[in-house]
Amino acid sequence: MQLLKSGADDLRIPLDSEQIEQFRAYAALLDEWNQKMNLTAIADSEGVQRKHFLDCLAGLPLVAEEYGSSMPPTRALACVDIGTGAGFPGLPLKIVWPNLKLTLVDGTAKKIRFLNEVVGALGLDNVTLIQGRAEELGRKRRFRGQFDLVTARAVARLNTLTEYVMPFVRQGGLALLYKGPNAAEEFMEARKAIELLGGETVRFSPVVVPSLNEERRILLVKKLRKTPKQYPRQQGLPRKDPL
Ligand code: SAH
Repeated sequence: MQLLKSGADDLRIPLDSEQIEQFRAYAALLDEWNQKMNLTAIADSEGVQRKHFLDCLAGLPLVAEEYGSSMPPTRALACVDIGTGAGFPGLPLKIVWPNLKLTLVDGTAKKIRFLNEVVGALGLDNVTLIQGRAEELGRKRRFRGQFDLVTARAVARLNTLTEYVMPFVRQGGLALLYKGPNAAEEFMEARKAIELLGGETVRFSPVVVPSLNEERRILLVKKLRKTPKQYPRQQGLPRKDPL
């Protein structure tokens, strides 16, 4: 986990030996399960440290800044990761901020089975796993407007993704969306959706992922107003006919 350690140092994210051990166990399970099923395209140790762990952690300083730079924020934040797949970015965030109250959402049962095993093996508490579609869960009372922080990485284009995530954010809360190099165009397309859904862009920033020479951008949206009741629209529409 040498890459992870030095990268976390660069990001000024302190990791103790227990956290390093949790990342190591997570990487081992990813590798093991990936041999049986297609969980993630990247499962080699170096790739996992760079393109999963450090990539996910690179978003944290932006959130911490919004909360007055304390890492982790002193208040236990309620966070949901939408389309988490093999747990990204939700689980790396949880490992470094153990006081997070984390919900992981994915549409696929096998991802949820994997996550269940990881959560048990790492001894993480306050993690809830939900199999379901964002468009449906975002209309339910238990989830709508309930989260301080909503994250998503590699799930959909921004105009679709904002319709998935904004309903979950509480007023005053944040959406933290991880994007690659072509995000500028996507962002232009999504500006109307952000406004319609009650959000305001706080930052759309390039981020440097330690030991990864690829462009990354993070969109941070604050929810100012309630999301109108008609959103999210029914399953499939946010993707087929984006706002
Ligand atoms: N966030 C992870 C996984 C990305 S792959 C990562 O960065 O590695 C996209 C994942 O989103 C898949 O696991 C897929 O099942 C899930 N997904 C896509 N659309 C979804 C939706 N509308 N509701 C819930 N999950 C969704």
